Amino acid sequence: MSINFSDEVNDEIITTTASLPEDNAEGSLRPKTIREYIGQEKAKDNLSVFINAAKLRGESLDHVLLFGPPGLGKTTLAAVIANEMGVNMRITSGPAIEKPGDLVAMLTNLNEGDILFVDEIHRLNRAYEEILYPAMEDYAIDIILGKGPSANSIHLDLPRFTLIGATTRSGQLTAPLRDRFGVSLRLELYSPEELQRIVIRSAGILNVEIVPEGAYEIASRSRGTPRIANRLLRRVRDYAQVRANGVITREVADKALSSLEVDKLGLDALDRRMLRSIIDFYGGGPVGLETLAATINEEAVTLEDVYEPYLLQRGFLTRTPRGRCVTRKAYEHLGLEYAGQQQLEL
Ligand code: ADP
Repeated sequence: MSINFSDEVNDEIITTTASLPEDNAEGSLRPKTIREYIGQEKAKDNLSVFINAAKLRGESLDHVLLFGPPGLGKTTLAAVIANEMGVNMRITSGPAIEKPGDLVAMLTNLNEGDILFVDEIHRLNRAYEEILYPAMEDYAIDIILGKGPSANSIHLDLPRFTLIGATTRSGQLTAPLRDRFGVSLRLELYSPEELQRIVIRSAGILNVEIVPEGAYEIASRSRGTPRIANRLLRRVRDYAQVRANGVITREVADKALSSLEVDKLGLDALDRRMLRSIIDFYGGGPVGLETLAATINEEAVTLEDVYEPYLLQRGFLTRTPRGRCVTRKAYEHLGLEYAGQQQLEL
């Protein structure tokens, strides 16, 4: 069953966590040091210990796996690690590695201590993963040249490098690959206060005048995601320049974001559609993820990786063994009367 809604969602909704062309200027907003990197205290604490220990021993850092929803700062954190370690970082991604030779070339071009950042590492071809095992464990690869009886195996030593893998979910990684990361860090959605600090910092870099309440208004409507916070800041800045005197106050931010249809809590059309579908077609739940995905014509992994984390964090959705349920808070936010869950959890 697939239903069409009037508030049809296009791919470029402003609150998408995916990187949009307008985010091109992200580079200048990226923090470069651990001190500048706001939030993620637990991950930063752990990392500081590993970084300092590796530096003291004069060794390269253990391989690091970063996981968490898109836009939370995985690439940024990898660059911060490279900067703190004083080494170079090369960037690639799972889907960009189209043949084994691509991966071998990247590995053999690394210098001692360098970082290889592989974004979306769960999308790396499983067959090529095997190249990574000895590379990560023994800093060596074996390449077979030629075919049949004349085939030759060459053993290549690699410099001691650090692999930093990023993924939206560690569960999507194969066990042998996951086991080869010495450090595994989960990035969490940011609190509105942390995002407020990020917005104020970015406004400083962009030379935008903003008051703390204006920054908070943007922060609390950014789905816990710095990428969205920075994007909304740029949009609100445009609005402030054209419609106000250039200063971002709470009122200016509110008007700008409302005109962009970002609601008070940062929910976008797809969030609302997801909640409405559970209410309208499944009496508020529970409904299985696959069924829900088919109902609203979205992929289950997108719902799970991109939409659910924020809805769960804000308490609009709960996960039960029998499926997803919408909470009273969601009914109230959508302006609907809460009639209680259709089927009570036993
Ligand atoms: P990911 O790799 O997880 O998709 P990015 O590292 O590309 O996310 O981060 C997206 C943007 O958000 C970056 O351009 C950066 O400016 C901003 N950002 C992310 N994390 C932080 C942070 N902790 N402090 C300040 N800005 C951040």
